[in-house]
Amino acid sequence: MQETTREALDALFTKQKAAFRANNNPSYEQRMEWLRALEKWMMDLRPEIQRAVAEDFSVHSPAITDIFETGGVLGRNRYIQAFLEEWMAPSPRPLPPEAHGSSTCEVILQPQGVMGNISPWNFPIECSLVMVNEMLAAGNRVIVKVSELAPATADLLQRTVGDYFDDDVLAIVAGGIEFSQYFSGLPWDHLTYTGNTSVGRLIMQEAAKNLTPVTLELGGKNPTIFLDDGIDEQHILEYLSFKFCKSGQICTSPDYALVPEGRLEEWIDIAKSVWQKAYPQFIGHPDVTGIINDRHYNRLLDWLEEARQSGAEVIALNDEEPDPQTRQMPMYLVVNPGEELAVMREEVFGPITPIKTYSSVEEAYDYIAGRERPLASYLVTAARNEADVESFKRSIISGGAGVNVFGFQAAWPGAPFGGTGGSGIGCHAGKEGFLNYCHAKTVFNCAQDNPVKVSVCVPYGEVTQAVADASFG
Ligand code: NAD
Repeated sequence: MQETTREALDALFTKQKAAFRANNNPSYEQRMEWLRALEKWMMDLRPEIQRAVAEDFSVHSPAITDIFETGGVLGRNRYIQAFLEEWMAPSPRPLPPEAHGSSTCEVILQPQGVMGNISPWNFPIECSLVMVNEMLAAGNRVIVKVSELAPATADLLQRTVGDYFDDDVLAIVAGGIEFSQYFSGLPWDHLTYTGNTSVGRLIMQEAAKNLTPVTLELGGKNPTIFLDDGIDEQHILEYLSFKFCKSGQICTSPDYALVPEGRLEEWIDIAKSVWQKAYPQFIGHPDVTGIINDRHYNRLLDWLEEARQSGAEVIALNDEEPDPQTRQMPMYLVVNPGEELAVMREEVFGPITPIKTYSSVEEAYDYIAGRERPLASYLVTAARNEADVESFKRSIISGGAGVNVFGFQAAWPGAPFGGTGGSGIGCHAGKEGFLNYCHAKTVFNCAQDNPVKVSVCVPYGEVTQAVADASFG
């Protein structure tokens, strides 16, 4: 990874600002060209991305890199290419002729300008580039600040971006916390940050100094409610499969599980049995993603130790030990942890499931409502009873939700993805994501036969009074 200097960042920023001023309305064809360049970049780099991500995580399945990282960017890109022309079209807003005569009103979408994008280590490709699709589609220019904690991937993006983009359209910069602070203080036209909630607060404070609008894609503790009818081998295997993916280092990973009272032992027994069947030998298996670095590896072990010390039962599903060399960790359960423990206060972001019990679904909803709003909430139910699903959907306020599935609500390019409250502000993906990176400008083109216009021309008279009275008619 090449640390970018502040001077180099300033020069790029100035260059992009000038390029935007010179062309603040890129054509559809121009935007499609940018999108196709991004598509080609991802297609060409597939094997190198697999290698770089594996280097950063110590162990990372190439298939999972293809699906979640490179494939995530490609899927979004192609979806936008199919809809861009439709999304860019001006939107006429009909006016009542008795008020506005033959005037017209329309909403046109303008680019916002030069955008900063700060990305985290956990999806070093996807979180750096997936929303760049919408940013470019909306006609903006972008500088991405990649995470210093995924240096091999950062290096790959830095070395190759110039083969596909002029740096006044898209540039990649890299640096640590101080550089990131400087980056977030520049007068961007929009600043997007993906990462943890406490840094999100700092980013927003920096952006506020310039009145820069922000999109914050943050984390949180995503609950999973198991209904009575969801406790079986298939559903628990599905839960563990997503929790396991990237060793839980995904913002939409289920964080803790809520299980009906009286079913806890059964849930745990099923979890042990399905997991041992899936992976008789777990640690050392190439499917098991390593924890990103020693700091996070030790953080997770410390939290488990704290839970043990408190008297909570800690279960390693395969009865195996973590490996400090590869940073692979077993799948752990922490049974009925106290609320004061780190595993219940903080986002786990690792292969640990705290499990709590509930006596009624309303109690489970209430428990979730008493905490910070999560990025995702999940319901597991074999019956998929309409009333149960409806009450789950409506009762919990979260960024997105999944019924009998995890993460899919964040992966479909046709629907928005974003948090609420502590889990974020704004969104990307879907038409809503495209709009997030546009300015919706209303243009009112007034005709002389417009009675409302006549009514506010001085001196006020009969028409003024008639329009005033009509407002109350
Ligand atoms: P990280 O440590 O890589 O930090 C993210 C970015 O913030 C990096 O580019 C880093 O340089 C920068 N940064 C760190 N400290 C900073 C500071 N004080 N000021 C300015 N910039 C700073 O990643 P992380 O935060 O550990 O990422 C994991 C978190 O991100 C989890 O909470 C996860 O849930 C969340 N996340 C959310 C989404 C989403 O789309 N909502 C996606 C991925 C990850």
